[in-house]
Amino acid sequence: MDYAAATYVRFEVKKTMGKYFSEEFGNPSSFNAIGLSAKNAVESSREKIAKILGCSQKEVIFTGSGTESINLAIKGIANAMKNKGKHIITSKVEHHAALNTCKFLEENGFEVTYLDTDRYGLVHSKDVEKAIRKDTILITIMYANNEIGTINPISEIGRIARKHNIPFHTDACQAAGFLDINVNRLNVDLMTINSGKIYGPKGIGLLYVKKGILIEPLIHGGGQEFGLRSGTENVPYIVGFAKALELAQKEKNKESKRLKKLRDMLIKKLLKIPKTILNGHPKKRLPNNVNITFLDVEGEALLLLLNEYGIYAATGSACASEKLEPSHVILAIGLPYEAAHGSIRFTLGKKTTRQDIDKVAGVLPKLVENLRCISPVDVKMSTIRELMRR
Ligand SMILES: *Cc1c(COP(=O)(O)O)cnc(C)c1O
Repeated sequence: MDYAAATYVRFEVKKTMGKYFSEEFGNPSSFNAIGLSAKNAVESSREKIAKILGCSQKEVIFTGSGTESINLAIKGIANAMKNKGKHIITSKVEHHAALNTCKFLEENGFEVTYLDTDRYGLVHSKDVEKAIRKDTILITIMYANNEIGTINPISEIGRIARKHNIPFHTDACQAAGFLDINVNRLNVDLMTINSGKIYGPKGIGLLYVKKGILIEPLIHGGGQEFGLRSGTENVPYIVGFAKALELAQKEKNKESKRLKKLRDMLIKKLLKIPKTILNGHPKKRLPNNVNITFLDVEGEALLLLLNEYGIYAATGSACASEKLEPSHVILAIGLPYEAAHGSIRFTLGKKTTRQDIDKVAGVLPKLVENLRCISPVDVKMSTIRELMRR
């Protein structure tokens, strides 16, 4: 129930990676046979990915993670464009990789507009357009939210960015396993994808950078990745990433259909528990995401109890949960502080079955009831409904 945080490396991926560890271990920059063979592996992976994204190979930059790609997109554009302007538009529900990069830039003379979302966590394109100024140099809005699964109208926002001639980046880390990632249909200039969320290895990501977009590297050195990300390429991981993306995109329709059924089954069962709220959009939602607020329940306590039953769920994002702060996403969609604490994310994946859904739905009512017995708070559903009516 925590596939949005991590997926296992699938068999086919592991198998294709295998020989690039100890047999074909050359450096792609070496001018010899094993170097050339490593280079070929990297370039054929890049070609595979470019085909899926609908772009040219020179527009695909391999990085060390989703976080690094997002940093490269935001800081890279900011540094390249700072003489033109210093204003960036993003949203309040982005991943911390984007939010904290923006915060860092704010401390360094840039101005950032953090757009509100509606109660479902949806960013509206008319709000993006309203926020555009003469000095706006970048718009960065996530494709699908990692906590509540809401899918943003990326192609529409992209059209607005194009009309105003402003570079547009999207964080597609949660989308790549389920949605269309063709950069032309999406109207994006930059796009981040990582491998660890699509049954590939962790610690490898990519940034799509459209030809003609001005961007500065974060890492300088030998000039690999068209000068945008120096350092010897992670050959086995690049090969694995390409294989994982290829399989994910090939299987996305069938797998989405299967998971949607399980997702909706789980949502229906959990909403039967009194004082529960579904977070995120009911329809424009990732096929594997269920996010429920259990009022008067401490989310972390519920996680520990679920863990005892071998059920691994999450509160907020993996990175936020160390701080025991309620999720910034749940707060942004308008839930009050006390309610935000009881929000749990269940994310389904390849090995999730009907039996798993029944198990979770069977165990939860009692656990929630027990925790409520010892809860000092008693939030009224009517209060929540009033707040959510905005
Ligand atoms: C996981 C994730 C990231 C960060 O990716 P890493 O590869 O862990 O650095 C960024 N954005 C979203 C939406 C994610 O789900």
